[in-house]
Amino acid sequence: MALIVQKYGGSSVADADSIKRVAKRIAEAKRAGDDVVVVVSAMGDTTDELIDLAQQITPLPPQREMDILLTAGERISMSLLAMAISNLGVEAQSFTGQQAGVITDSVHGKARIIDVTPSRIQQAVDAGAVAIVAGFQGVTQHTNDVTTLGRGGSDTTAVALAAALQADVCEIYTDVDGVFTADPRIVPSARKIDRITYDEMLEMAASGAKVLVLRCVEYARRYGVPVHVRSSFSTHPGTLVTDAATEEGAPMEQPIIAGVAHDRSEAKITIVDVPDVPGKAARIFEVVAGSGVNLDMIVQNVSVASTGRTDISFTLPATDGAAATAALTRHQPDIGFTSLQYDDTIGKLSLIGAGMKSHPGVSARLFAALSDAGINIEMISTSEIRISVVTRADQLDDAVRAVHTAFDLDSADEQAVVYGGTGR
Ligand code: ADP
Ligand code: ASP
Ligand code: MG
Repeated sequence: MALIVQKYGGSSVADADSIKRVAKRIAEAKRAGDDVVVVVSAMGDTTDELIDLAQQITPLPPQREMDILLTAGERISMSLLAMAISNLGVEAQSFTGQQAGVITDSVHGKARIIDVTPSRIQQAVDAGAVAIVAGFQGVTQHTNDVTTLGRGGSDTTAVALAAALQADVCEIYTDVDGVFTADPRIVPSARKIDRITYDEMLEMAASGAKVLVLRCVEYARRYGVPVHVRSSFSTHPGTLVTDAATEEGAPMEQPIIAGVAHDRSEAKITIVDVPDVPGKAARIFEVVAGSGVNLDMIVQNVSVASTGRTDISFTLPATDGAAATAALTRHQPDIGFTSLQYDDTIGKLSLIGAGMKSHPGVSARLFAALSDAGINIEMISTSEIRISVVTRADQLDDAVRAVHTAFDLDSADEQAVVYGGTGR
């Protein structure tokens, strides 16, 4: 008998019929003899709709209240799912993040899990019930304030619970058949990946492949939780995310390129005419960090000899654009730049593959593919197993398709199926 943690994303529980369909699947797993703990997301685009609603009340809602509001989405789906499972004659009980023992730090909107103490969940499982846990939420250690884990955070809840309960596997059920070589919504010829390493999946997630959220992959790698990404709409085997060794101890075969990821959620800030003297970059990034913003790519131009000034550009999540711009503008006099440009019409493409570190020519092939497709590259950054480029947002889809084809990733046979979801 195994203990399985299953997570169902919003598109898998979008309406009453979907909830009943998922309930059947859970009841089958339970009847097959396994212990089952389920993590559930808010129905469909509920989280986005709640954010829109708050925006209609105030443009800058207090973050504490925002978190209480957003956690309501997962409470709706968890209770409905528990009812649907009970209807099928299998006992089920739902629990909030707090009841499930998900303890976080106090950073509202993107809290980090610091501990999981799932004794209530263990009791429910020991008593023979299916435990349903609201994803994406926790509670602060000292003040008991409700927090959320950031967009897509139900994946993290699932892996964290799987680690705490020492589950045999964490199954992430979504609206595609697994992790593909590119987003199937953009590249229908993308291929499903049967196995991927934590390292490659980390880079894919960090680069925008939202099928798994970054923190969930970090957590899974740290605690060695095997993750199986699959569709709740089919019974096809999905993608297994594990470390490089297979069960037999033999190294996993590593293709040069695992996939192409894209990200439309970033913006670019260019700080114009920064005095090119020691300490200015440090000051700029201190100011940005002080506003709680995580940067991504940074580019500094060669300074203009006649003026001794230079431009510095960096990318950041567009949702942090207002905070970073305001902080930099406040410090304009002491940094000494002349102006600041904000551009949220950029896209980022990333090519990921553990094999690229030992294969020369990957960048050259990437740049040639983009140039053949008439796509201009605005910024470039690399890691050992990733190359990322910034393009215009409206050219991003074409760029992804061109690069996918250039690296021979297109599938010869069936097209990837997208079963549900709105892609929002
Ligand atoms: P859920 O609601 O189940 O959490 P998400 O929308 O968060 O689902 O994630 C699933 C979506 O991730 C897919 O519908 C797909 O559009 C997108 N996606 C992006 N990159 C990939 C990829 N490489 N492989 C599979 N899906 C991807
Ligand atoms: N409902 C949350 C979101 O839409 C969490 C999740 O779905 O993982 O981001
Ligand atoms: Mg998700």
